[in-house]
Amino acid sequence: MGIIIKSDREIAIMRQAGRIVATVLGALSEQVRPGMKTKELDVIAARELERLGAKPSFKGYRGFPANLCVSVNDEIVHGIPGERVLDEGDIVSLDLGAILKGLQGDAAVTVGVGEISSQAEQLMKTTEGALKASIAVAYPGARLGDISAAIQNYAESRGCSVVREYTGHGIGREMHEEPQIPNFGSLGVGPVLKKGMTLALEPMVNVGGWRTRLGNDHWVVFTADGSLSAHFEHTIAITNDEPEVLTIV
Ligand code: MG
Repeated sequence: MGIIIKSDREIAIMRQAGRIVATVLGALSEQVRPGMKTKELDVIAARELERLGAKPSFKGYRGFPANLCVSVNDEIVHGIPGERVLDEGDIVSLDLGAILKGLQGDAAVTVGVGEISSQAEQLMKTTEGALKASIAVAYPGARLGDISAAIQNYAESRGCSVVREYTGHGIGREMHEEPQIPNFGSLGVGPVLKKGMTLALEPMVNVGGWRTRLGNDHWVVFTADGSLSAHFEHTIAITNDEPEVLTIV
């Protein structure tokens, strides 16, 4: 198998899929408010994806029951939206994938519910900063390990830890393609980045330790120590020059 190189035509479709993901995540972020049930966000995600002509990537994936992952506070990823009511001060990670003409886009953001603590604010900034730092090194000729190291160094130098059991990934016709992209690693190791590679970079960053615990539903992943966690993700394309972020409006 190995890493699949996409044609310019495929990347053009992924750009459209990515724009849809970003549009829906933007709409969801504006809707988040105290007193809302997380399942309401899933309803909006389903409706907006349909309106924009895309299919949800996650629904039915290995049996996942929703269109959107909603992970609150110490939940890292893969939270199933449901009856939980959001409280003032919570932080909520929204992860969404869309399929358009057989190609995928995948992105995540973490947003605050009303007024949040400065610790939560810092965590979110650190996680988003780690994502930006990793995109900034994704040039042709760089190594995959440079991306991993950029995320780890950015987060750990700010006193946070990076989740190790869940990773970023190649993406294209499948949501999860090779390579796996750990959020920790060493400079100068791993595959060389080449034009036409499309990658989902997704730092998951914890205030406390990096260890995780799987929830009783066998989907949601918690921080083992109960500390806050944030998640930011973009799908990017490696070009001949600057990396292109596909999941933007
Ligand atoms: Mg992903």
